[in-house]
Amino acid sequence: VALAGATVTELVGDRADDWDLAGELPRDVLRKLAEAGLLAAQIPARYGGPGWNSTDSGEFTAEVGSLCGSLRSVMTAQGMAAWTIERLGDPAQATRLLPRLVSGDTAAVAFSEEQAGSDLSAMTTSVTVDGSALTLTGRKTWVTAACYADFLLVVARMGAEGAVVVVPRTAPGVQVHRIGDPLGCRAAGHAHVWLDEVRLPLDHLLGGGRQPLPLLVTTALAYGRMSVAWGCVGMLRACLAAAVEHAGSRRQFGRPLGDHQLVARHVADLWAGEQIATRACEHASRCWDADADDLGAAVVLAKYVSAQHAAAGAAAAVQVLASAGTRDGHVVARAYRDAKLMEIIEGSSEMCQLMLAGHALSRR
Ligand code: FAD
Repeated sequence: VALAGATVTELVGDRADDWDLAGELPRDVLRKLAEAGLLAAQIPARYGGPGWNSTDSGEFTAEVGSLCGSLRSVMTAQGMAAWTIERLGDPAQATRLLPRLVSGDTAAVAFSEEQAGSDLSAMTTSVTVDGSALTLTGRKTWVTAACYADFLLVVARMGAEGAVVVVPRTAPGVQVHRIGDPLGCRAAGHAHVWLDEVRLPLDHLLGGGRQPLPLLVTTALAYGRMSVAWGCVGMLRACLAAAVEHAGSRRQFGRPLGDHQLVARHVADLWAGEQIATRACEHASRCWDADADDLGAAVVLAKYVSAQHAAAGAAAAVQVLASAGTRDGHVVARAYRDAKLMEIIEGSSEMCQLMLAGHALSRR
């Protein structure tokens, strides 16, 4: 993990802000990381992956998250795709697709639609089967990493149930339209994906399809939540480091900023946020590796707590740096924009609260 951290630190260097401003990650960086299996490091060794456990993968995700939220977002998409294939694909599909995700190819996962955001049961994208082919039609939105993806996993209705369809980016009928002006994670390749009567062989249905829609969504989102949560830990670490450095070196009223108690409070809150988020993620990763009974609640808790603290912590860091941190090109300004999105994706904070309340009430 340390070696992988050094590799990604070297690959990113001091370029994350340039990528953010340009709205694009360099393809060679993505390819190198994908070839090394580092965009989805939990893919098991039997498929050619690094086979890391959730804790090691999480610490690495935090490292990437501290450097570049857009790159971490692409990692989240790749890991979510890999986990969905591993859990829902049949052995032939896993053997065909997973090695591609550790040898250079990238993937994205598409659930959301214009009228189906938090409420994914409202999705209308549908797949029908006719003889030896399937036909997929619908419009997905806000698909992270779609601009870079070699293939997409598209969640769709299949009669009264659901299915995940493996869609090559270049298949006839697929259009990927970049979202040019996201608030944050600007280089993560977010896109609208239009699917107009996309015809594919039946073996592009993961596990044959006809699975319950909630199962499909929950499977992919579980990995996504873990990855986002650890990414938020990384953002908190980057913000804490910047705030500590600035509060220790900048002087106002004849002493370092950190000696003023109201500034020290921001630093204390940032440190506490980083510690709380780390502990919640470590617990969730231990539950993930042990396949514990309360895994679902632990994952939602980690995502909820980490996203809340990342958004609050990034705001506190900007406050400590003040004018020094309020320009594009500064790590805390980027984190401020990126962190807000973490409260929206992979189940918004409100949806997490509802799930956590449901968990607590079910124990009555
Ligand atoms: P809405 O569902 O319209 O919600 C609006 C607000 O109302 C939110 O605050 C929400 O929490 C609240 N709300 C809604 N329902 C309730 C309720 N019952 N109780 C209380 N509050 C409620 N989608 C993909 O499929 N793949 C991706 O890779 C992907 N990446 C994304 C990356 C980014 C940067 C963003 C912004 C979005 C991404 N999405 C992706 C879409 C994302 O999953 C949705 O934006 C998210 O589910 C929220 O849906 P919505 O934006 O339509 O908000």
